[in-house]
Amino acid sequence: MGEIVDFRMGDLLRLRKPHPCGGFEWEVVRLGADIGLRCTTCRHRVLLERRVLEKRLKAFVARGPEPDPEQVRIALERD
Ligand SMILES: [Zn+2]
Repeated sequence: MGEIVDFRMGDLLRLRKPHPCGGFEWEVVRLGADIGLRCTTCRHRVLLERRVLEKRLKAFVARGPEPDPEQVRIALERD
């Protein structure tokens, strides 16, 4: 994925490689320059740089709730 990925809190992600515990799916628990993920199998938490996560992302299993409209407006105005 070359484009910027719109991660949301609560997104459920499938990554290309499994966690050592065998789990493939991660929940987004923190957004920022680094993205916080929690393994849904063993509950282990990691922080990944956004660009690293974008490379490892295989698919969205489920999306978190829509961000509030005010945050969307601010994001659009930046473009
Ligand atoms: Zn795990």
